[in-house]
Amino acid sequence: MIELQDVSKVYPNGVKALHNVSVKIEKSQFVYLVGPSGAGKSTFIKLMYREEKPTSGDIYINGQNITRIKNRHTPYLRRSVGVVFQDYKLLPRLTSYENVAFALEVTERPAREIKKRVMEVLDLVNLKHKARSYPHELSGGEQQRVAIARALVNKPNILIADEPTGNLDPDTSWEIMQLFERINLNGTTVVMATHDKEIVNAMKKRVIAIEGGQIVRDQLRGDYGYED
Ligand code: ADP
Ligand code: ADP
Repeated sequence: MIELQDVSKVYPNGVKALHNVSVKIEKSQFVYLVGPSGAGKSTFIKLMYREEKPTSGDIYINGQNITRIKNRHTPYLRRSVGVVFQDYKLLPRLTSYENVAFALEVTERPAREIKKRVMEVLDLVNLKHKARSYPHELSGGEQQRVAIARALVNKPNILIADEPTGNLDPDTSWEIMQLFERINLNGTTVVMATHDKEIVNAMKKRVIAIEGGQIVRDQLRGDYGYED
């Protein structure tokens, strides 16, 4: 499903963000990526949706080597990998509905089908009633739910998230985490970088710890393992 083989990433300024990382994530797994700031978690995430390319090594997503695909094929990858960020990254001048519809890859589909899919996914995150709201009219948790709906609208089988609860209070973080768990139970692979110790310790999912650009721990039903 997701496989990194001997992946290294050196940024143009010479920073070595990942060294010789090899790991396999099976279909429908839920994985937390933990580790101190600067460890390489965001780089790991960015490599999976091809925001960055590895300096060496190979990355397979759904059996396809994405290090070898042409840039013009990146949109196809984006259909199978949904991404959620800490700061939501919604377009401020678009409503919830429009933010989600904008992400939908449409190849001449009838308007009613588009509307059906967008409303279906807003319903999944319990935000149908906020379809006409703009991001500034929504709470942080609601904005993140719109971002999750947007990430899911093309029915990806992988959902990756970089600190999705980083700007949310503990109760809202739990709601968002339950939503990720529900999505995972429907068969979607979830890979999430997080500093949320309480949540990681309570969920008992696979935990991969990265330090200094290398995997230092990989446990099924793991713990957060840091004090922060
Ligand atoms: P984390 O997400 O665990 O905090 P990152 O993957 O963001 O770690 O960063 C890993 C290392 O790579 C850090 O030393 C960081 O400063 C560096 N880094 C991240 N992005 C870039 C970039 N675009 N250019 C140069 N260095 C970067
Ligand atoms: P929280 O404190 O839980 O983050 P808010 O107080 O920001 O939530 O919002 C509570 C409810 O009020 C939410 O459902 C949100 O959509 C709605 N809301 C907040 N600000 C506005 C606004 N400017 N216009 C319309 N609805 C709003």
